[in-house]
Amino acid sequence: MRIVRDGIPAAPGIVIGPAFVVRWETPRVPHVTVAPDAVEAESERFRQARLWVQERIREIQQQTEVRLGYVEAQIFEPQILMLADDELIRGTEAYIRDNHLSAARAFELRMLEFHSEWSRAAHPMVMDRLNDLLDMQVRVVRRLLDLPDPDFTLQQPGEQVIIVARDLTPSVTVQLDPAAILGIATDGGTRTSHSAILARSLNIPSVVSLGDLTAHVEPGQPLILDGREGRVIGEPTEHEIVLYRERDVKLREWEHELLLLAHLEAVTPDHLPVQLRANIDLPGEAQHARDHGARGIGLYRTEFFVVGRNTPPGEEEQYRSYRQAAEVFPDDAIFIRTFDLGGDKFPLFLQMPPEENPFLGWRAIRVCLDLPDMFRAQLRALLRASAHGDLRIMLPLINDVQEVQRTRLLLEEEEASLRAAGIPFNAGYKVGIMVETPAAALTAAELARYADFFSIGTNDLTQYTLAVDRGNARLAPLYTPFHPSVLRLIQRTVQAGRDAGIEVSVCGELASNPLGVYLLIGLGITAFSVAPGSLPEIKKVVRSVPAADAREVVAEALRAPTPDEVVAILTRGISRWLDLSVFGGRWNLSADG
Ligand code: PEP
Ligand code: MG
Repeated sequence: MRIVRDGIPAAPGIVIGPAFVVRWETPRVPHVTVAPDAVEAESERFRQARLWVQERIREIQQQTEVRLGYVEAQIFEPQILMLADDELIRGTEAYIRDNHLSAARAFELRMLEFHSEWSRAAHPMVMDRLNDLLDMQVRVVRRLLDLPDPDFTLQQPGEQVIIVARDLTPSVTVQLDPAAILGIATDGGTRTSHSAILARSLNIPSVVSLGDLTAHVEPGQPLILDGREGRVIGEPTEHEIVLYRERDVKLREWEHELLLLAHLEAVTPDHLPVQLRANIDLPGEAQHARDHGARGIGLYRTEFFVVGRNTPPGEEEQYRSYRQAAEVFPDDAIFIRTFDLGGDKFPLFLQMPPEENPFLGWRAIRVCLDLPDMFRAQLRALLRASAHGDLRIMLPLINDVQEVQRTRLLLEEEEASLRAAGIPFNAGYKVGIMVETPAAALTAAELARYADFFSIGTNDLTQYTLAVDRGNARLAPLYTPFHPSVLRLIQRTVQAGRDAGIEVSVCGELASNPLGVYLLIGLGITAFSVAPGSLPEIKKVVRSVPAADAREVVAEALRAPTPDEVVAILTRGISRWLDLSVFGGRWNLSADG
């Protein structure tokens, strides 16, 4: 059937090939009871099955560590922990003991209860983690039903295919062979699903959140998958196939040209040096960023440690990861952001109450200051990692000076305790803030007295200034960082930073957009942090547009009354220096950063 679907681009690349439709089924579990004198033995069978599955997942975890790295391997930790979860074990055993249910049925019912409890939160991240747990759930059930372990290895067809599935679990994804799999298209998932993260690590183009694509795709049906635009086309016309092949060739040439830029200086034609750093989620990405020409990390989102975990992450584990990133950049700054929880990032162990407006709720620095034990462990890990590089501690969603002061107090206490224990750290580390609310931008002059740097988070700054949810597809046309109000808040922040003599950088998605960089250079910003894949493209912009010209054009844009006029003025200006057509369709500024 002919079908065109737009989803969320999760891993770049254009591929054309036949669909391989995967329908994972949880085995049907019959309602079986056991005799009262078999209850003990049934509980023991459950215990054995748990231990066996734990062992099996550990093996996959070890293989993943060898293949992709330590942090990627941690994706399997929640499943292993879940198998030892007290509530899961006691609940299942109670069903066996009190209702005389078979172990498989008792376990299935307990898992159903977990699902329904967690589903009530309806957070995309919780749903992602539930999908992860499906891995272990299927294994346990199959073990108890005496079925062979699924292993989730695909019946590889003889040719290269595009996988179409409702969702992929991490262990399926990690066992895919990039030589046999052209691409992945899933009905569900988000850009931060574990399977999407793994697909990026494996360089398999993928698109997620495609609705009910699986219901409309037949096995073997020809597909085009564009992981850069987030589009899947079923039964494409000859014309479309030619177009996408051409686009693929053009993009590869363009990427090749850009990669050559990776090691050239980021400097404008009128000799203004620009700092280009990378945004990362996992420490393993630091090397990739460096290969793409990054000079440091401008935003390390540390939430990966927290979401999907049943227990808070320990200091040691965090220290290892921060140190790993710092060691990749011995001569450059590493900005590590403290946990930005709440909003759309929802850790299981916090059991956060449902909120009417999570983005206006218990979020980011507010959560950390309310949970000092968790926060202190992170601050200690950061302090210890400071011994290995130029570490900058970055606080998210700061609204007022007191939040910075309270964090500094905790840091001082942790410094004293490290000193007393003889554990090294670099006393010259810096503490700064993300400017991502109008409150912070409007009081930037006051905040600058307590912060060593500002990093503007344009994704949140835009949503809070315009009162437009950054994740709401219906409102996407209204979500624009080119709104005159956002421009003025950035301008004000830059001025406050300049007056105080501190660095002002931008790590929101606006810095990954060619027009955005032109705007920001014109506003006087010379430090950007962007997704590693966008680094060469942004460097190309920096090396093409004179800063003096950007300033002149932006002065005019600042007088424009509407976002459309701002964009029109900037587009006219930048087009004199750069052929915008090669940037493809990257003008969509919906925030996925
Ligand atoms: C931002 O808000 O611009 C930002 C960089 O943070 P995040 O996208 O993680 O909220
Ligand atoms: Mg933010």
